[in-house]
Amino acid sequence: MTIRSLCYSLLLVLPSAAFARDTDTAPFIGYSATGAAAESALEKKLQDGASADTIRENMRRLSARPHNVGSPYDKNNAEWILARFQEWGFDAKIETFQVLFPTPKLRVVELLQPTRFRAKLQEPALSVDPTSQQTAEQLPTYNAYSADGDVTARLVYVNYGNRDDYEELDRLGISVKGAIVIARYGQGWRGIKPKVAAEHGAIGCIIYSDPKGDGYGQGDTYPTGGWRSTEGVQRGSVMDTDYPGDPLTPGVGATADAKRLAIKDVKTITKIPVLPISSADALPLLSALTGPVAPPKWRGGLAITYHVGPGAAVVHLKVQSNWDIKPIYDVIATLHGGEDADQWVIRGNHHDAWVNGAEDPISGQAAMLEEARMLGRLHADGWVPKRTIIYCAWDGEEPGLLGSVEWVETHLKELQQHAVAYVNSDSNGRGFFNPGGTQDLGTFISGVARDIPDPETKFSVFERAHLAAIAESKTAEERSELRKHKDLVIEALGDGSDFTAFQDYAGISTLDVGFGGEEEGTQYHSIYDDFYWFTHFADTEFVYERALAATGGTAMMRLADAEFIPVDYAPQARAIAKYVEELEQLVKQKQEEFAERDLQLKEGVYAATLDPRHPLLPPPAETVPPYLNLAPMKNAVDDLQKSADDYSRALASFAAKGSPAIPQSGLATLNADLLRVSRLFLNKQGLPERPWFKNQIYAPGAYTGYGAKPIAAVREYMDEKKWREAEGQVPQVAQVIENAAAGIERAAQDFDAELMKP
Ligand SMILES: [Zn+2]
Repeated sequence: MTIRSLCYSLLLVLPSAAFARDTDTAPFIGYSATGAAAESALEKKLQDGASADTIRENMRRLSARPHNVGSPYDKNNAEWILARFQEWGFDAKIETFQVLFPTPKLRVVELLQPTRFRAKLQEPALSVDPTSQQTAEQLPTYNAYSADGDVTARLVYVNYGNRDDYEELDRLGISVKGAIVIARYGQGWRGIKPKVAAEHGAIGCIIYSDPKGDGYGQGDTYPTGGWRSTEGVQRGSVMDTDYPGDPLTPGVGATADAKRLAIKDVKTITKIPVLPISSADALPLLSALTGPVAPPKWRGGLAITYHVGPGAAVVHLKVQSNWDIKPIYDVIATLHGGEDADQWVIRGNHHDAWVNGAEDPISGQAAMLEEARMLGRLHADGWVPKRTIIYCAWDGEEPGLLGSVEWVETHLKELQQHAVAYVNSDSNGRGFFNPGGTQDLGTFISGVARDIPDPETKFSVFERAHLAAIAESKTAEERSELRKHKDLVIEALGDGSDFTAFQDYAGISTLDVGFGGEEEGTQYHSIYDDFYWFTHFADTEFVYERALAATGGTAMMRLADAEFIPVDYAPQARAIAKYVEELEQLVKQKQEEFAERDLQLKEGVYAATLDPRHPLLPPPAETVPPYLNLAPMKNAVDDLQKSADDYSRALASFAAKGSPAIPQSGLATLNADLLRVSRLFLNKQGLPERPWFKNQIYAPGAYTGYGAKPIAAVREYMDEKKWREAEGQVPQVAQVIENAAAGIERAAQDFDAELMKP
C-alpha cells in the first residue's frame, strides 16, 4: 500500500538562485565532536559504495514474477533475501505467520439495463512489456477482504465516496439505500468507500480509476507514457479501519497455534461486496446514469456528462473469494551491536506485491537491501555498531500490513524494552525527500538529509525539500517558521505502511523515508507496475534509488552509533501544540459555520437562491457546538513545550561547549530516559472506538485512512459532532501529554547532571 508517495504531488517552480546554506558545522545530534568525525568518515564509505547497478539487479530479480502473498515467488523472494542477508554477515532468519488472505473465486460486474454490458475485469498483456504476459501467475483485479455477495440494483455515482459526498447527495435528494454505488479512486483510503456506502444503506460498491487524476488527464498513458491506461486497474485491500493486521488475530501474533476468530465474527471485512474496475469498464456504467448532472467537483476526465443517477441503469455485482489461511514470510536480519547491544534500531520495507510490484514495494526493498549490503561490508571491515541493527523485509503488507503487525504483536514486550526507533520505506520515486514520522526525530533526519546530495540537481536533498516546503507554504507565518527552524517539516503518519504497528501500537519513534513528486506516472497496484515500466518511466537511472540507499543507510548507522539517542523534542512539542490549536480552531469554525447556516435557513437564503428547476435541498440545521474545555490539554502542552525547551537547551549548551568527549558512565541513565519517552504517548485503553490504536497523539482517521488524524480520541468525536464526548477525552489526552513532559524533563535533568559536569 504505498501511500504517501502518491498522496502528495509537488507542482512548483523552484527558485534558481543558490540556497545560502547555513554553514552549520556542529556535529551530529547525539555525538561528541570526535565521535561525529569518526562516524562521518564511516558513513561516507556507505554513501560512496552504494551502487545504482546493484539496486537495478535487485529490482530485476525481485520483480521478475508476480509475488503476492501465498504465491511461490513470494516465498522464493523471501528465501533469496534471507540468503543475501546471511551472505552479508547478518544473523538472519524467516519468521512465518498464518494469516487470512482471500483471493478471487468469482467476479462479475455487468450492466443489465438499459443496455447490456459485461465488464472485462482484466488488464491486457502488452507485447512490449514482458512480465505483463505472465497471466497465469497474476492475481486477478479485486479488492481483498471484500465481503462475498451477489447483488443486483440501481447504480448511483458517489464521487470519491467520502462522508461529505453523501451530504451532497442528501441535498440532491438522492438516497443510495438498496443501490450499488460507483466511486472513483482517490481522496483517502479505498477501504473507506465501501464502509461509508454500507453505512448509508448501499448493497454493493464499485471503485474505478478515473483518467482525470490517474490516467490521460495527467499525461501520456502506458506504454507510450507512464500513466495508467484506460484498461489499467488498481487492486488493493478494503480492510476496515478497526485494526490492521491479520483479521483473525487482533492484538496477538498470528502464529500457527494462535486463538483465531471465526470469519463471521471479523469486524474488518467489508459489509458489502466491492470490486475495482478500469475506466474502460466504468465508461458504459457511468454513461448509463441519468438523474441530476453531477456537481462540478464530481466530474472526472471521461468524455461524458457525469450524472449522479439513479435512473434506468441496473447493475449486477458478484464477488466470491477463497477464504484461505496462507503463510507469510518476514525476513528478520540482525547485526548485533557492541556496548549498547540491548538498544535496537529497526529498519523495514515490505517485499510482497499485488503483482510484480517494481515500484511498490521493490523500489524500496531493492534500495534497502543495498544499504544492508554496505553495512555488511563495513562490518566485515571491522565496524561494530554500538546498538543492534535489525533489518526487516516484511511480507503481507499489501493486504493489511500483515507481516509487520503480526511481528510487532508477537514481540511487543521486547520491542517496548529495546526499540530506539523504526525507519520505514515502501515505494520510492523521483523528486523530493519527503520524511514523515514522529517529530522527535526531525532534527536528526534533517541532519542526515543535509549530507545526501540530490542526484539530479546541485542541491542537497535537505535543501530541495526545505525550499519546496517554503514554496508550498500558504502563509507568511508558515514561511517564517520554516526559515527560522531550518529543519524539515516531519509530516505525522497515520497508517498505510509498515510503520503503523511500531508507532500507533508500540509507541516507538518512527520515520518513513523516500523520494517522490516528479514521477512521470504511476501504475500503482497494476500488472504494469513492473521492471519495464520502472526502467522506462520512473527512476530510470536508479539515482534516486541510490539516494534512498544512502539516506536509509546513513540514518541507520547514525542512529545505531550515536552516543546518546539523537532525539530533540522541541519540533515534536511544536507539532503537538499545533494539533491542539487545530482542535480549538475546528470547534470555533464549526460554531461559526453552524450559527451562520442557522441564520441563513431562517432568512430563507436557500429557498430564495435555489434554482426551482434544479432543486437542491438546504443543508440540515446543525446544533451549534457548545463551549468545550480544552484547558487541561493546553496546560499539558505548555508543560511539554517547557520540558522540550529544557532538553533542547541542554543539547545547545553541549554543542556550545564544543561537544566534548562524553563519559560512558553517564550515558546509560540518559539513554534509558530517552528510550522511554515515546512509549509515554500510549495509554492502555487505546482510542475510544478503536482500542488497538494505543498512541494518543499519532493515529489514522477512522474515515480518512492513510493520513494522520493527530489526537484522534478528541478529533474523531469532533468530526462526528459529538462535542461532549470529544470534551470527555480531553483529560486522558492531557494526562498522556503530561507524562511525556515529565519524561522529557527527567531526560533534560539527567543530561545536565551527566553530560554537563564540569
Ligand atoms: Zn507498498
